[in-house]
Amino acid sequence: MAKLQRVTHRFVEHVPAPLEDGVVYVAIGFGTVVHKCCCGCGDKVVTPLTPVDWAVAYDGQSISLYPSIGRWDAPCQSHYWIRNNRVIWSVRWSKGKINTLKRHEAGLRDDFFGLDQGHPRQGSGEKPDEGHGKGGGLG
Ligand SMILES: [Zn+2]
Repeated sequence: MAKLQRVTHRFVEHVPAPLEDGVVYVAIGFGTVVHKCCCGCGDKVVTPLTPVDWAVAYDGQSISLYPSIGRWDAPCQSHYWIRNNRVIWSVRWSKGKINTLKRHEAGLRDDFFGLDQGHPRQGSGEKPDEGHGKGGGLG
């Protein structure tokens, strides 16, 4: 299957089904952009628009999506950018680089939401207190 080099955009209220190849559906009301993977594998790629996920830019003629589309968990392993309705393909990344990026993004997420997950205390020899704090006796 041929990789797409260009897409068109469509501003929609609801994302239709089935999706057309090479069409990037921008559902602003839902804060979501959906398109079919540009490699031609037919997978639906959902890119939520949030401060920590994707952003879409519209210049009146074409759209760009930030950051890139990285399908690390998909069989096709596609990685590309959508810039001004053009698809810019990346070379395949190494697993190490992907993991670094994943960690980086997870870190951003934690910072944004103020979460402190992913830093389990480990290995200091102390046992976490168990059997505490259960059964508050409300009421
Ligand atoms: Zn694909």
